[in-house]
Amino acid sequence: MKATCFWLGCIFIGLLLPQSASAYTRSRDSDTGVCLYWERSTFTYFIHQACSADIPDVNSCIAAVRAGIDVWNSPACSKLNAVYGGTTASREVGFDPDNWNDNFNLIIFQETSWQSSGQAIALTTTTYDIEKGEIVDTDVEFNGVDFGFTVNGTPSSHHDIQNTMAHEAGHMCGLDHSTDKDATMYKDAASGETDKRDLTQDDLDGLCFVYPVGGDIPNFIDDSMLEICAERPDEGCGCAALAVQPKSLPISVLALAIFALFWRRNKNM
Ligand SMILES: [Zn+2]
Repeated sequence: MKATCFWLGCIFIGLLLPQSASAYTRSRDSDTGVCLYWERSTFTYFIHQACSADIPDVNSCIAAVRAGIDVWNSPACSKLNAVYGGTTASREVGFDPDNWNDNFNLIIFQETSWQSSGQAIALTTTTYDIEKGEIVDTDVEFNGVDFGFTVNGTPSSHHDIQNTMAHEAGHMCGLDHSTDKDATMYKDAASGETDKRDLTQDDLDGLCFVYPVGGDIPNFIDDSMLEICAERPDEGCGCAALAVQPKSLPISVLALAIFALFWRRNKNM
């Protein structure tokens, strides 16, 4: 009976609250609590020259990857801009502080070896300043070992590259998973899905909250963030997986956040 009253109370309160409550979540460092963001509001990314082994036409593969990122460039309310730097032969994922200028923001399809969970369709690895939250490097790996990819819906068992890239690009921008099931930043994706090719209002709200045109990037821990953390502790409210201190770093201000993200729907199977 208590439970019934509780839920009825929640429903009632929910009806009284504004419908504009956001579901998006920013990626955060689990220790310091800082939120991740691009200080300069612009970053350049490169695509590995082979793109996907499932797509014989490399240009169409590259076009799908770029389209997935471009949806985050389009909103007029955001000042963030991801710039395509071209293709590269580099396969270096992660961040090397000893060779600062050699670090690429790389998008690569891993076809022979996959180091993370076999249920992850793709993985975004972001390196950031652990005290400020400023992102210095972000790389996206597609899991070509356990999944097939497509650009045109064929075969239907494969995952749409643009759909997958749009989700991962949100992580590149500093967003974590949203609880809104319709959002591009929702954690699950089925094979053949294309719904995440476009952003929803929740995704736009998150992007434009972090990178408002004419405004400062809110990189502080404000009350609204704390409320989100309190309401949805299981959602991660920041770094979804783990933050580890790279052993080789000569300075202690960098941490590596690995987002084990984008699970398929039947992840328990
Ligand atoms: Zn994800």
